[in-house]
Amino acid sequence: MDPLEVLTRVASRRGFFVYRAPASLPDAELSRFENWLAAGMNAGMDYLARNPAERFDPRRRFPWFAGALVLAAPYADAEPPRPEGGLRLGRVARYAWVRDYHLWIAPVLAELEETCGRLGGVCKGYVDHGPVPEWAYAVASGGGWLGRNGLWLTQRAGSYQYLALLLTSWPVEPAGPHPDRCGSCNSCVTSCPTGAIVAGGMVDARRCLSYWTIEHRGLIPLEIWPKMGDWLFGCDDCQVVCPWNRRRAVTPLLEPDPELAWPNLENFFGVSNRAFARRYAGSAFLRTGRPGLARNALIVLSNRDPEALKKLLPLALSDPSSRVRATAAAAAASAGLPDLTRAALDTLDEQARSYAEQALAFFG
Ligand code: SF4
Ligand code: SF4
Repeated sequence: MDPLEVLTRVASRRGFFVYRAPASLPDAELSRFENWLAAGMNAGMDYLARNPAERFDPRRRFPWFAGALVLAAPYADAEPPRPEGGLRLGRVARYAWVRDYHLWIAPVLAELEETCGRLGGVCKGYVDHGPVPEWAYAVASGGGWLGRNGLWLTQRAGSYQYLALLLTSWPVEPAGPHPDRCGSCNSCVTSCPTGAIVAGGMVDARRCLSYWTIEHRGLIPLEIWPKMGDWLFGCDDCQVVCPWNRRRAVTPLLEPDPELAWPNLENFFGVSNRAFARRYAGSAFLRTGRPGLARNALIVLSNRDPEALKKLLPLALSDPSSRVRATAAAAAASAGLPDLTRAALDTLDEQARSYAEQALAFFG
């Protein structure tokens, strides 16, 4: 039997949709990515600009690489029940509702690598943070298309899909490109709260809430605050409205955890980073860390529940993280407590003090 067929069956049994992609990516995908970088749309994610040509051609590193399997695990689960907490609950992007999908996908990739060896080939699996652009191989597979929101979509599962990649030593014939099924729809563009979706399926990370709330390590610009609404971690606004996401395909083994889908915003204060790491072990929250989530939580409370924010401010203003203290000082200004902001100025370093002073003018 065709070895790629054997691997496809193994991956399908584990809950993946499987697509085949050639080793050689179309030049247009690299050009599009380089244009995105050249325009500065990667914001502070400098690591994305390292060796793009090499990342788009894994054969330089793996000369045996001849064809790829793109593995897609859908996660359009229904919302888990909302715990008590009302406006003090933050919203989280759907992909982060489960306890680490990497931990679930990695053993499947290991099983596929082992199967490859038995079939006389070589394979290397990647999920998410490897050097290889999974989305570009997904596009090259012809199994779906790049939507206006920059996400890869398929007709059977929409865009809510975890992607992994298996590089193999067996060649794959290029399939024709998938037709663009966005048609005249523009819903993701008009629903984006920050206008981050620009032409050609590109998202400008400098405006995207997913970047600010997950990847950004510093202070969040004040003009972004009101756009965050109740988004604590990530943002799904451009996916929620997508008509292709009404299909609700799910991978049964991945169960959403209500504590991850609806975290209480007060959970990130008065706890050590170590206790936070224990509580959220295996979750995507660890990428942002406790200070990042506490920073975001203050902004969400400022947008949604100023009374709860006021109660939390004394604790937040004495937080060990200067990022949290600076955000708390700015949040005090947003809650109509400028005297509290002024009183905090002396406790802040120069950059944080300047941020809090800007907040006094911004929320004035
Ligand atoms: S994730 Fe949110 S902010 Fe980013 S492009 Fe989509 S809708 Fe806009
Ligand atoms: S919302 Fe509309 S335009 Fe955006 S990705 Fe979905 S189908 Fe395409």
